[in-house]
Formats: sequence, structure tokens, C-alpha cells
Amino acid sequence: MGTVQQNIEKLRAALRDHDYKYYVLSQPSISDFEYDRQMAELLRLEKEHPELITPDSPSQRVGGQPTKEFPSVTHEVPMLSLSNTYSEQELLDFDKRVREILGGQPYRFVAELKIDGVAISLIYRNGIFVQGATRGDGTEGDEITGNLKTIRSIPLRTESGKGLPKNFEVRGEIYMNKKDFAAMNKKQEELGEKTFINARNTASGTLKLQDPKIVAQRRLNMFTYFLRTNDVPLKSHHDNLQLLKKLGFVVNEHAKVCNTIAEVKQFCDLWNTKRASLPYDIDGIVIKVDAIPHQEELGSVAKSPRWAIAFKFPAQQMETVLNGITLQVGRVGTITPVAELEPVFVGGSTVSRATLHNEDFIKELDVRIGDSVFVEKGGDVIPKVAAVNLKKRKKNSPQYKFPSKCPECGSKIFRPVDEAAYYCENFECPAQVRGRIEHFVQRRAMNIEGLGEAIIDLLVTENLIHNIADIYSLKKNQIAALNRMGEKSAQNLLDGIEASKELPFNRVLFGLGVRFVGEGVAKLLAVNFSSISDLKNASEETLEHIDGIGPRIAESIVRFFKDKHSQKLVERLAKAGIQLKSEKKKIVGNSQVTGKTFVLTGGMETMSRDEAKEKIESLGGKSASSVSKKTDYVIVGSDAGSKLQKAIELGVKTLNEKEFLDLIK
Ligand code: NAD
Repeated sequence: MGTVQQNIEKLRAALRDHDYKYYVLSQPSISDFEYDRQMAELLRLEKEHPELITPDSPSQRVGGQPTKEFPSVTHEVPMLSLSNTYSEQELLDFDKRVREILGGQPYRFVAELKIDGVAISLIYRNGIFVQGATRGDGTEGDEITGNLKTIRSIPLRTESGKGLPKNFEVRGEIYMNKKDFAAMNKKQEELGEKTFINARNTASGTLKLQDPKIVAQRRLNMFTYFLRTNDVPLKSHHDNLQLLKKLGFVVNEHAKVCNTIAEVKQFCDLWNTKRASLPYDIDGIVIKVDAIPHQEELGSVAKSPRWAIAFKFPAQQMETVLNGITLQVGRVGTITPVAELEPVFVGGSTVSRATLHNEDFIKELDVRIGDSVFVEKGGDVIPKVAAVNLKKRKKNSPQYKFPSKCPECGSKIFRPVDEAAYYCENFECPAQVRGRIEHFVQRRAMNIEGLGEAIIDLLVTENLIHNIADIYSLKKNQIAALNRMGEKSAQNLLDGIEASKELPFNRVLFGLGVRFVGEGVAKLLAVNFSSISDLKNASEETLEHIDGIGPRIAESIVRFFKDKHSQKLVERLAKAGIQLKSEKKKIVGNSQVTGKTFVLTGGMETMSRDEAKEKIESLGGKSASSVSKKTDYVIVGSDAGSKLQKAIELGVKTLNEKEFLDLIK
């Protein structure tokens, strides 16, 4: 045991390190619960020894800090943190303090969900969004206006009318829905890239990206909960929420006025049990004194207002034993390690498996088979191993060594430089075969109805298909003979297979499952190459000339077509009558569109963006997502953003909706 001073210093150093990982890198290495426990311990020691408090102690500062990549802005009014508690008693203490300071005046609370996201400030002048920034260290944050403009729930222009302010600041939380987060992480995993720990870190990491294009793809949302203005008098927090709604912001629907702390408590209990049913993560309830004059009277202490408190939910973490680590093999051969756990009830369901992401993740945790581990519901959906209980580790337990062979086929596995994942090198590995077939027949690719996972599994095990081309040689009697299939289902399946031959080239390209070739890239390829043989002969250089295709995608495409298996497959698909050519473009009389590159910005009245893109592509044009010198036209819809600015800067021709409609007529 060291001295108190030493203990304090140790805690401070640890908390500074956690702050850095959480706020700057968006990659925390401990759970919030554990962080809050260490912070509470520091606060306790500092309270006992006030002479040891220093202004740079993590207890005295709002956690974040501005990063170097963005310009800094100073907040007109500091963005504070909230004092937080996990205990009911402290909630009662909070009520008592409020009552004492307000000296007998009646008061009430508003209780709101505490969205687990990133705090953001938005400034509006004359109803126009002019600046957005992160909280940073509370005084200075990063100016990330461009990134925030891509978020659909942030109005670029607010509603106007009687009683509505024009010049104001709005604050709120940027977050990502659980579903979008899970889908994104799945994609990252498929691509062999680093996965995110939870939706909050993803949202925070995304806001720090330099490329608003990627930010736009990530589907961030915003709930607002704070308004500051001199334009109109502000009476209460509850009124402010209504004002925010009228201005066009999204306010979380579950805010509730509570007349007593007992009602607040009920609200906290209710949401603690119901939180898993929400489409986004919450980590507690925020309780605010409603009347603005009361808030002013209560004021704030070092880093948090005295008129609000966060009641945090206990961590959804449980301890269990890691019985083993198994490997899962994906469609492109990606190997994902999975923790096989002694079943444990956590966050509303029983968990017996959890992802371990990749070799680095296992190394970082230093998790070993037989360890006692803490399991957490990350993002409340995907269970994860959060930490190891080292106290319970058995003596001499060996470090985990990543296997060198594929668990499905026994072939060697390899880890490419710069990647976190291992891959199975055997193209015919049954796990990969099944995965590739599932990918090929899915709705967004060849849409072959009746060819679900179970049937594919049967067909592969019965040795009837080994690859996607084999689907087209299936015979009716072979299918009908399968377990639980009959003549009728066999015929339906054959009809589905036949119908897939009519689907356009871009769907086939997507279905082939070339690494990094998603739906968007497949469309780009189909527009730029008239047939698969053209594409096959394209060099990396030619491919990289296409806006939207970088070196990584280009390399992967070239590698795919060099491979003998792929070449054979393509030949057989051609023989089967699959569309391996672009449809003849209806270019007659529309030389204005063919070969031209369009960029859309803002919304259109007569068609959706996707429809507009399809139209352009069907006329032989290209649609790109960012404006460059190569862009021929920028179509400017309502709420046009920075792309219009860029077009003007580069002197690219702009079209309004009507002009565009005339052009494509
Ligand atoms: P906080 O998250 O405890 O609470 C304040 C924040 O709540 C506000 O800034 C705002 O962003 C958010 N919020 C969500 N809904 C809100 C609402 N309806 N009204 C008002 N605010 C709302 O405090 P913090 O300063 O943002 O972060 C500190 C917390 O972050 C710690 O308590 C810890 O849980 C976590 N943290 C974890 C690590 C780690 O390594 N795991 C490191 C640093 C911080």
C-alpha cells in the first residue's frame, strides 16, 4: 500500500490514460463501470484530502480534448459534464441539495434517457446551421461542421415562426442505432478490418473522420436536449424541448416531467428493465431541474451543473468461465475467433458464445482458456468478453496461441500484412463454399428464392454443388430427392434459378463475392465495363481511374480474375446464360448523359436519389459521391451542402432539378 498521495497519483495517471483512449482514440480498454469506479475512488480520496486536489486532476476536468486534425472552437458557454451516480441514496441526496438551495420554492424535474453517444454543439444564425463542434475539454472543441452536415436529423435550416428563435445554440447527442452498428461491424469483420467495441465509440470515431463521405455512409443520428438563445425568453427545460421540436430538431420521445424524486426513481427503474428494447443504447437517466431560473440559481461546480445528475444503470456484466476458443470461417475465408463460455445470464438473455474479433484482441486481453472472464452485452446486442479476472487465473495457464490451420478444412491459414484477420487459403473450404453460395443467391444479388441456408447446406454436404456455377446444372430429380423437398419445391427452386438469369450484370458482379466489391462498386463496374471479359482484362491502373475505386479494390478485382478457379467459374456462368454483359444503354439522343459524371447534392422533389442515380446509369452516365475536377455536372436539390460549394470552387456546371429532368428527357 502506498501513501494516499501515491494512490491519488496512480489513479490520476490511470484515468488520464483511460480518458485519452476513450475520448481521443475512441477505443477504451476498460468498461464505463470500471472507469466510474476508479473516478469515484479518486473523488473520495480527494474529498478526504482536499489539500491534495490539483487543477489538472481528471476529477476537475471535462474528459475530452480537442484533436489536432480539426480547427478548434471556443464554446461561448462551456459544455460541462454531469455528475453521475449508480446509487439511489445519492439520488435522494441530490434532491435534498436542490431543495436546500431553492429554499422552499416548489420545483419539479424532467427525467430523460441518457443516450450513450457524443455531445455536440450546433450554432444557428438567422435560422441557418453555421457551426458544429464537439465538446472537447468543455471549453474548446473540434469544429466538425462538414461532418455534421451529413447527418439527416440535423436541420441545415430551421423552421421559423412566432416565438421561435433564429439565433441560438442547440446541444445534443450524436448516436448510432444498434442495428446500424451491428451491420457495420459485421461488414468490418468480413473485410478483415478492425471492429468497433460499441455504437458510442463508432459514433465518436466517425465524427473524427476527415472524409465526410464516409461519415455520411455511417448513418449517425442526433437527439437534442438543450437550447440557448437571447431571441425569446426561456422558461423551463420542458418548454425548451417543445421549442426544439418546433424548430425541426429530433427530441427523444421518452422525456417525462416528474414532480417528486420518487417519480424519478420509478422512471429509472422502468427504463433499466426496458432499455434492451430501445433501438439505441442508453447508459442511464439524466435528471434535470425544470425551471430555468432555478437552474441559474443552482449554478454549477467544477465540471458539472448542480441542477442535473446522471443516474447510471449498473453494468450489464457477468463473470463466467471461458471453456474454449473456436474459429468461425466466413465467405471470403475470414477466420473469427469465438469464445465458448459457460452459459451465463447477462443483459436479459443467456450467453454462451461471444466474439473475440481477432488475434490482436485476444492478445490485448491476454485471455486464456480456463480463465474467469467478464462478459458484457456490447451495444446490448452482441455479447463480448470485456476483461479477465486475473485473480482467478490458474497457475501455469498457457497463453493462447492462434491456430495455424483452418478448422473446417485443415488448410493453412495466413494473416496478410496490415490486416487484423487471418484467412483460410483453401478456395474449396466447405465453409467458404457455403458462404459464397449464400452470398450469391441472396436477395440483393441473384435473388434465388427457395435456396436458403438449410438447402445450401444439404446440397453442399450431398456433394451436389461445390460452387455458384453448379447451381445452374442442378437437376429436378436431384433436388426432389433431398430431405423434405418434393417435386413441387424442386420445380419452384428451378424456376427461381431460371429467373436469376435475367438479372442485370451488376447483380452478378456483386454476387461473385469479389473482396471489397459491394453493391455500389459492382454498379460502377457494370457502368464502366460493357462485359466481363473487358473487366477481366482491365489493369489495376485502368480500374483506379474510375471515381470510387481505390487501389485496394482494384488490386482485389485483378487478383480475382487472375485466379484459375474464378476464370473457370466465369466461363461456366457464361455457358449457363447468366448476364455477363451490360445492358445496351439507351443512349440514342442522349449524348449529354452518356460518359458524363454526375454528383447529386440535396434532395429532389420528383424522384429519390437512388432513382436519379439509376436513371443516370441507365443512360450511360456515372454517378459519383464527391465532386472533383472529373465531375461534369452537380445536380443541386434542396438543402444542398458542401458539394455545391465545391462545384462552385472548381467551376463545375450545376443543374437544378428542372434542368436535370430536361437533360434526361
Ligand atoms: P457522462 O457521459 O457521464 O454524462 C454527461 C454526458 O451525457 C453529456 O455530456 C452528454 O453527452 C450525455 N447525455 C446523454 N443524454 C443526455 C441528456 N438527455 N441530457 C444531457 N446530457 C446527456 O459524462 P462524460 O463527461 O460525457 O463522460 C464521462 C463518462 O464517460 C464516465 O463516467 C465513463 O462512464 C465514461 N468514460 C469511460 C472511459 C473508459 O475508458 N471506459 C473513459 C472516459 C470516460
